[in-house]
Amino acid sequence: MNQEIPIARIAGIRVAAHWSVLVIGALLAWSVAAGVIPVAAPGTSVLIAWLVGTGTAVLLIASLTAHELAHSLVARQRGVAVEGITLWVFGGVSHIKGDWGSARTEIAVAVAGPATTLILAGLFYGIAAALDAVGAPPLAVVVPWWLAVVNVTLLVFNTVPAFPLDGGRILRGILWAHRGDRASATRSAALWGRIFAFFLMAAGLVDFFLTSDIGGIWLVFIGWFLETANRAEVQGESVQRMLAGVTVGQVMTPNPVVVPGWVSVDVLIEQYAMRYHFTTFPIHDISGHIQGLVTLRGMKRVAVAERGHMRAADIAIPLEQVPTAASGDPLVDLLPRLGISSDGRALVFDGDQLVGIVSPSDIARRMQLGELRVMPPRAA
Ligand SMILES: [Zn+2]
Repeated sequence: MNQEIPIARIAGIRVAAHWSVLVIGALLAWSVAAGVIPVAAPGTSVLIAWLVGTGTAVLLIASLTAHELAHSLVARQRGVAVEGITLWVFGGVSHIKGDWGSARTEIAVAVAGPATTLILAGLFYGIAAALDAVGAPPLAVVVPWWLAVVNVTLLVFNTVPAFPLDGGRILRGILWAHRGDRASATRSAALWGRIFAFFLMAAGLVDFFLTSDIGGIWLVFIGWFLETANRAEVQGESVQRMLAGVTVGQVMTPNPVVVPGWVSVDVLIEQYAMRYHFTTFPIHDISGHIQGLVTLRGMKRVAVAERGHMRAADIAIPLEQVPTAASGDPLVDLLPRLGISSDGRALVFDGDQLVGIVSPSDIARRMQLGELRVMPPRAA
C-alpha cells in the first residue's frame, strides 16, 4: 500500500507527497479564501479569493518543501545518506537513512530547516512591507503577510526543544557533544519530547472541553503524532546501537540448501521442505546461477492438484526482488532493505558465490544477544 505521489527530483533529492497533503492544502486554501481575504480585502469576489487562496496554499507547501530540502541537502553534503522527502499532513519528513556520524552533523542538519524557514519568513515579510509601502491593494499585501506569519509560527513550533522536532534534535546534538554519549543524549531529549507531546494533548483536550473548539482536537493529534514519532526514533536508535559493528556474515545462516529450479513443487515439498528445517530455499538454474527464492508460504499457495506440474521456478520470488548483501556489509545497512516481498529474507553473496541467507529470526536472535551485551548488570 504505497500512497505516495512522486512530485519532483530537486538537486537529486526525491520529493513525494502523501495524499493527505491534498487535504491540508485544501484546508489552507479554504482558510485563506474564506477567512483571511474577506477580512483583509472585503469585496473580493469568491472566485478570486479561492484562486488566490489556492496559490497561497501552494506557496506554503513550497516553503515546507524548502525547509525539508535544506535538511536533506546539508545531510548529503556531510556524507549522510538521504532517501528523499515526503510531504504529508503534518508538514514534511526527510528520510535520512545514514548514520549521523557526529554531534556536529546532527546539529548542522537540524539547524538547516528552521534557518530556511526564518529566511523565508523574512523574505515574505519584506515583500509584504514593500508592497504596503508602494500602496499596493490589500489583497496583494495580505498574501505575503500571511505566509510570513505562518512561517514564523512553524519556526517557533519547530524549535521547541522537544525530540523529534528540530529543536529537540539540536538539543540532542548539544547534549551529545557535551556528554560524548549519544544514547544518554537521546534519552534526555526524548524525555523532553514526551513531556511536550503530553502537554499538547492535555492542552488540546482541555481546550476542546472548555470551548468545544475543534482546534483542540488538532493539538491532540499533533501531540499524539509527536509521541509516536519520538518512540519510533528511540527504538530505531536502540536497534542501531545493539547491531552496531555487526556484519551480515555474523547473523546469516551459512550454506543454505539450494534447490534446482526445475523440480516440481511436489518434490520441493517432499524432498526439501519436509526434510530441512528452513522456511525458504534459494533456487538455481541449469547453469548453477541463483534465480530466486521459494518460501513455504509460496508452496502453500499452490493447490494440491497443481503441485505435480508446477516447478519451483514458477513459484519463486525472482532474484531482482530479493535484497542481497555481502557477508562483510554492516547489518544496519541491510535492515531497511528487508521487505515483505521476500518474506524478510536476504541472500548473502561473496562475489558470485551464495554463502548464506538472513531471516528475521536470525536478526531477532542477534538483537537479543545484543541486549544481553548492552544491558547494565542488575544490582543484586
Ligand atoms: Zn525540520
